[in-house]
Amino acid sequence: MNSYDIAVVGGGLLGAGIARDAAQRGLSVALFEAADFGAGAAASSSRLALGGLSALGTLDFTRVREDIREREILLQTAPHLVRPQTCLVPFYSHGLLAQARLRAELALSDALGFDHALRVHQLLSAREARKRVPALNPNGLLGAALVWEAAIPETERLARELAWDARRHGAVLHPHTRVEELYRAPGRSGRERVGGVCWKNNLTGEEGRTNAALVILAAGSGEYALSGERGKPRLQKTVSIALPPLPGLRDALAFPQEDAPGLLLAVPHTNTCWAGSLTADYHGDDSGAAIYATGAEVASLMKSLRAVLPDDALVVERASASVHTLILPGEEIHDPAANGGRCDGLLSASGAGLTRFRRVAEDAVDLACRKLGRALSVSPCRTASTPLPVPHSCPEGSVAERVEFAVTEDCLTLRDFLERRVPQWSAAERQSQMPAALEAFAEALHWDSPRQAAEVKAWKAETALGQAFRVL
Ligand SMILES: Cc1cc2nc3c(=O)[nH]c(=O)nc-3n(C[C@H](O)[C@H](O)[C@H](O)COP(=O)(O)OP(=O)(O)OC[C@H]3O[C@@H](n4cnc5c(N)ncnc54)[C@H](O)[C@@H]3O)c2cc1C
Repeated sequence: MNSYDIAVVGGGLLGAGIARDAAQRGLSVALFEAADFGAGAAASSSRLALGGLSALGTLDFTRVREDIREREILLQTAPHLVRPQTCLVPFYSHGLLAQARLRAELALSDALGFDHALRVHQLLSAREARKRVPALNPNGLLGAALVWEAAIPETERLARELAWDARRHGAVLHPHTRVEELYRAPGRSGRERVGGVCWKNNLTGEEGRTNAALVILAAGSGEYALSGERGKPRLQKTVSIALPPLPGLRDALAFPQEDAPGLLLAVPHTNTCWAGSLTADYHGDDSGAAIYATGAEVASLMKSLRAVLPDDALVVERASASVHTLILPGEEIHDPAANGGRCDGLLSASGAGLTRFRRVAEDAVDLACRKLGRALSVSPCRTASTPLPVPHSCPEGSVAERVEFAVTEDCLTLRDFLERRVPQWSAAERQSQMPAALEAFAEALHWDSPRQAAEVKAWKAETALGQAFRVL
């Protein structure tokens, strides 16, 4: 079959979530992802699904309530991938305004989440805060709030599992397949109609066209290149760094900032501590050029972190950056036909975050069903209550056995394996195990020498981007 109800472009959490929801409701779906599922924003994010802390500074309490509900749904429907995470929010004497704002907002978000399973926040003295996190800068420390949130340590895996569940319900998956352009045909009364997507497989070079009654773009910052229907987006660049693990750090640290609405976060992960994020307007090239963190951006992030963490903890192992479109709450879904646009058959969805992607996917599929005239004939959304099936886990074993298992889970490149399938490996382990992994892939997927060389080159290019800040 090469004709579907819906073609979804972008296999991050949002695109995979839309594909899963639509397929569960009985629609025929094709899902296109230019890289590996979840290799976009999810892979460089903080991996925190924030409820109460999510909308700090925005005073958008409807959103806080919704985020708390979505965080609960994630904890209940994917408990093998989402776990409760304590966040410590320190209060300093030099940040009194941020502190007062934060205390009020935490109290309110506890009230708004009165029915959620996680505990309400707890206030700690400076001594208690330092007992939990000895590395905290004691100068001016007044105390802290301990907040219960959720973490998705393997966000890429969540995106993959959503895509696999979509496949279980009949969706056809196209990983490593870039949608080059939308297929446009004349529509009714002089309007244009998007009738599908023209794509190219990045690994095989195969090209083709897939017809769809509706195309949903969930391509993150890749949306504008495919459709200018939302207008020129306001782009933002987010920078984060990987630090060595802070000894004994179990809590994520969240620092409210005086001059910015967002939080500065330091989050413990296996083998590393993720710290970020520094977000600023981006006016550079958005044509798909490699995005990296510069030395100046990393220095600025380090300056903010130095106010709260000791210098010896701040050794940057690698830095990453991503460009995303700024989407205001409530504007996550765009329907060009309903907004004076010139084309039918197209929707776009973006800006959902880690916490709200399921809800935005549900709204997008509701709208898609109405546009397709199927609102009454399909089953209702079930993603809020249907648990995500737990796949077989990777058996402990040799590198070859791990590769063999990853291939059964659609892992098709060396860099996907090393960067996104073995999160328990440190950077040094990845380096040392690379030759064995390459050999195992070559055998499993019949890679010839030029293909092996290309795989190593692509992996080295990806890891080199994380070190670009040292010279640029
Ligand atoms: C540094 C950082 C920190 C973050 N921290 C948080 C946080 O603390 N809490 C939170 O809630 N959210 C956070 N986010 C946001 C969150 O990660 C994303 O909103 C979430 O992962 C959903 O992303 P998405 O699916 O919309 O986009 P993406 O994950 O970017 O997915 C878009 C996908 O589309 C694909 N694509 C693009 N163009 C094409 C094309 N032409 N053809 C085929 N495929 C295409 C891309 O390869 C990509 O995989 C953070 C993001 C970043 C970058």
